[in-house]
Amino acid sequence: MKKTALGGQAVTAGEVKSFINGAFVSGAGPSVPLIAPHTGQSYGSYRVATAGQVDEAVKAARAAMRGPWRTMPMQERLALLYAVAERIEQRFDEFLEAECQDTGKPHSLARKIDIPRGAANFRIFADTVKNVPDEAWHMETPDGRGALNYTVRKPKGVIAVIGPWNLPLLLMTWKVGPALACGNAVVVKPSEETPTTTALLGEVMNEVGMPEGVYNVVLGPGGDTGAALVANPGIDAITFTGSTATGQRIMAAAAVGVRDVSLELGGKNPGIVFADADMNAAIEGTMRSVFANCGQVCLGTERVYVERPVFEEFVDRLKAGAEALVMGDPKDSCTTLGPLISAAHREKVLSYYKLARQEGATVVTGGGIAEGLPEACAGGFWVRPTIWTGLSEDSRVQREEIFGPCCHVTPFDDEDEAVHMANDTPYGLAAAVWTTDASRANRVAAALDVGICWVNSWFLRDLRTPFGGARQSGIGREGGHYSLEFYTELENVCLKL
Ligand code: NAD
Repeated sequence: MKKTALGGQAVTAGEVKSFINGAFVSGAGPSVPLIAPHTGQSYGSYRVATAGQVDEAVKAARAAMRGPWRTMPMQERLALLYAVAERIEQRFDEFLEAECQDTGKPHSLARKIDIPRGAANFRIFADTVKNVPDEAWHMETPDGRGALNYTVRKPKGVIAVIGPWNLPLLLMTWKVGPALACGNAVVVKPSEETPTTTALLGEVMNEVGMPEGVYNVVLGPGGDTGAALVANPGIDAITFTGSTATGQRIMAAAAVGVRDVSLELGGKNPGIVFADADMNAAIEGTMRSVFANCGQVCLGTERVYVERPVFEEFVDRLKAGAEALVMGDPKDSCTTLGPLISAAHREKVLSYYKLARQEGATVVTGGGIAEGLPEACAGGFWVRPTIWTGLSEDSRVQREEIFGPCCHVTPFDDEDEAVHMANDTPYGLAAAVWTTDASRANRVAAALDVGICWVNSWFLRDLRTPFGGARQSGIGREGGHYSLEFYTELENVCLKL
């Protein structure tokens, strides 16, 4: 393995660096402090990469597409991806520490989900690329000799990868893994809140001997660095995970130059609990789907519909579960609920807590800032896990994505009513259905307008399956061979015999 010494380090003296053409560099723009969400204290900084530096990164990626990366045999390319996965695992604790510092999420959560998936995303797509059959058709021609049509799959070129702050490593590698497996080069702009693991991955790239310019990272806010990246004419396609509002801006930017775009956006996901459900499983699954990662999961449930005979029992047990969540130092193994990502996001979530009261909700539990935290966490962005009942379907709290540790629970009387309410949203990302009746599960899943429907589970992910949202939750599907459709260009060759 090559040493990383030449490229430098992702973090020096607390400053997280951009990574351009195999070397760590400071942004030429202003310095921005990084704030730990669990303490509210600054623990480091980064400097904003300017439009000129974004252009350097894009040029480095374009040069990589003309260099050894382009002609590298597939097995060699994939060996590099397997090495990246292995190296993430070898440096597991550093990735864990960095991810939890940036996000404030409990170590127990990131240890189980975020970091392992960071490695798995490289392996699964290396495996996928190896196992995709190519298409060939023999056609008849008037001269009787025929022609052979076959399909060549080529990398698309330079891909801009733009990610959010809630699952930074997991969601970034979910895109970088398949992009590199298909032979593209990438320029990644992580969220300005959570740049560290994306930068750290640059060290890993150098350590495994990834050619310079294949993986680049530019740090900065969306409106500056992000906008400069998507506007850069050297970008061939854009893959984005984030809010629906930003997704629309990205789509408009992609239209210039007719670039392909993949959008994984927001949601207002329903959970439907039928009276015949295994109630322990439904409570446990709904607890996770509402409160995991402090509710900051695009797939999370914010609207729960419960069949009337079990409504009261369900609300009581969900309330007990929410009140048993433990907030505190992310490193503490007892901690089960982290903070919100930032002061600004806490303001947003608290504004919905206030709005719910104004709209006439019954506050079952929570509804405000969390108090009584350990002293070290006193300045963090904590809110109480919150459950409401009593709101109408057209209330704003029931229609808008909040992205916090909260949900509204509504009773229903029959299947059609539940499906109707679940579908009554501009979004269509995910749903969770809880029932022991397989026919009903099948019927309801088919009737829901979503990209992913879990039955008797939540966040159970087989990475070979299609992932994405309907309606305003996104465009396109990624996962398994679906990712290859986005990260490759198909060329048909017609060979006259
Ligand atoms: P966001 O849209 O504010 O930001 C996402 C990224 O886009 C950030 O890196 C940001 O800097 C960048 N950005 C912002 N404006 C930009 C612009 N004009 N041009 C280019 N880049 C720009 O989202 P967020 O607050 O970071 O993340 C939370 C949102 O992400 C929620 O809505 C959530 O549902 C969604 N999300 C969706 C999925 C999914 O798979 N569907 C997964 C995770 C999060």
